Amino acid sequence: MPEITLQCCCGKVQGKTANLSPSTGTRLVCCCRDCQSFAGYIDQEKTVLDQYGGTDILQMPVSQLKILQGIEQIACVRLSEKGMYRWYTKCCNTPIGNTMGAGGAFVGVVHNFMDNQATRDDDFGKSRGHIQTTFARQKIPLDLRGPIFKIIASSLFKLILWKLKGYNKPSVFFDDTGKPITEPKILSQED
Ligand SMILES: [Zn+2]
Ligand SMILES: [Zn+2]
Repeated sequence: MPEITLQCCCGKVQGKTANLSPSTGTRLVCCCRDCQSFAGYIDQEKTVLDQYGGTDILQMPVSQLKILQGIEQIACVRLSEKGMYRWYTKCCNTPIGNTMGAGGAFVGVVHNFMDNQATRDDDFGKSRGHIQTTFARQKIPLDLRGPIFKIIASSLFKLILWKLKGYNKPSVFFDDTGKPITEPKILSQED
């Protein structure tokens, strides 16, 4: 997989991935309620979600994502106190990706932030399929559903491996002390 250019919709935030091997990342489509809520929160349901309410994501090591300009435009929201850190750009509400805390070694980069819509299948391989399908907005054909246990096992394996390899650092999202680069907004029930 070549270096992938990262860019928000308006171009203020620019970045790139490292040269990843095609097997490094895990590409999947997440239909969970939180991914749908995040797309709604930044008012990008139409551009982020597919017809099933799924978000096309590449899980990759956080240390292999670089922001080259516009880092001050990055904002963060958590759907609850313990929710994932969901990063987006405040210039144009482009979703960037989801991370755990500073110790987490992966970022699930949302497709909108990657400048390779046309070559995505070649760059990363085909998506492993849709997961969290109980939250889907319409019935998902069987051939689109991912082999859920295999995907989760493979994701977990990589999370642990990447953590052991120290791929959580350096992170564009957290400083050396583990503090997020910008204070996340934590949504309450009412939000
Ligand atoms: Zn922008
Ligand atoms: Zn999700």
